[in-house]
Amino acid sequence: MSRIFNFSAGPSTLPESVLLQAKEELLDWRGTGMSVMEMSHRGKEFLSIAEELKSDLIDLLDIPDNYKVLFLQGGATGQFAAIPQNILQGKDKACYVNTGAWSAKAIKEAKKYCDVLVSADAKDSNFTSIPDYSAWNVDREAAYLHYTDNETIHGVEFQDVPDFGDIPLVCDMSSNILSRSVDISKFGIVYAGSQKNMGPAGVTVVIVRDDLIGNAEKSIASVFDYDQQDNNGSMLNTPATYNWYLVGLVLKWVKQSGGIAAMQQHNRAKADKLYQAIEQSALYSNPVEKTVRSRMNVPFVLANAELDKEFLKLASERGLSSLKGHRSVGGMRASIYNAMPEQGVNALIDFMAEFEKNHG
Ligand SMILES: *Cc1c(COP(=O)(O)O)cnc(C)c1O
Repeated sequence: MSRIFNFSAGPSTLPESVLLQAKEELLDWRGTGMSVMEMSHRGKEFLSIAEELKSDLIDLLDIPDNYKVLFLQGGATGQFAAIPQNILQGKDKACYVNTGAWSAKAIKEAKKYCDVLVSADAKDSNFTSIPDYSAWNVDREAAYLHYTDNETIHGVEFQDVPDFGDIPLVCDMSSNILSRSVDISKFGIVYAGSQKNMGPAGVTVVIVRDDLIGNAEKSIASVFDYDQQDNNGSMLNTPATYNWYLVGLVLKWVKQSGGIAAMQQHNRAKADKLYQAIEQSALYSNPVEKTVRSRMNVPFVLANAELDKEFLKLASERGLSSLKGHRSVGGMRASIYNAMPEQGVNALIDFMAEFEKNHG
């Protein structure tokens, strides 16, 4: 068996030990004689998996008691619609910050349900910066303020949490949840799809402060209603049981690896190295303002775009896969989530240096 280093933005690389454990338990989960995928979601075996999943997430992120933790379907994209439907609470306006492609999608969807005030927009910098908080136009009467903590495509990441008083902060952490410590109590909602940093695709984590639930719009689909899902243990309909199990294994792996603090350190080290290699080269560059560079997704371009194809071909021959940048921005992107080992980043840096020597 030979595994490559997979720099895909999502679905993305998983810890090898998790895959091995899933393989080991595939046919017979702990003496039950069945696979987790064959179990009733109402049975005691699966309920024990579900309980551990939730308690491990609460532990890892230190989620306060006054928050509900939901495991839903429909991805972060489903939440783009579910959020306004759940928490407008009779208001007709929400604030959104536009820092890139994912923010823009959230904004577009929210406009179906309410007036959107774009409080800050990084479009003028071609999404390579985050506008200064002092320049944000936030209407304190709006229902909430939404932003995207890490722009997966542009490689831009918030380095702290903006503070606008009592207005509930709603944050898309799809591509950086579990990568660094975060104070959940600062947020109204934190949500994330699973396929970047938590497991395979198919689970959407929603962490919501309890005063924000119970007033959803009447027309909301029940599966998106936080209150109904909470009252049913996120099992209003049949959950993605096997994916819950796999996310659970990833959470155990994070715990065994030293928790969020260890992830944070490991991610910092990997990203610093890679950015330094890019900075020191004459061939590669990263357009993002230094203070807001993402530790998860590192986009870079080659000085001569005609070399892109050759770069990707040779990288792939070295077992360095999925480095092609998003079609909307071109160039390259290395996604280096929690599960990307430091050796993977080292191998990429070595390859980049060698390629530059031969083609620079
Ligand atoms: C991937 C991603 C999404 C979309 O997730 P889906 O599961 O495809 O809906 C939304 N926001 C961010 C920041 C992402 O990285």
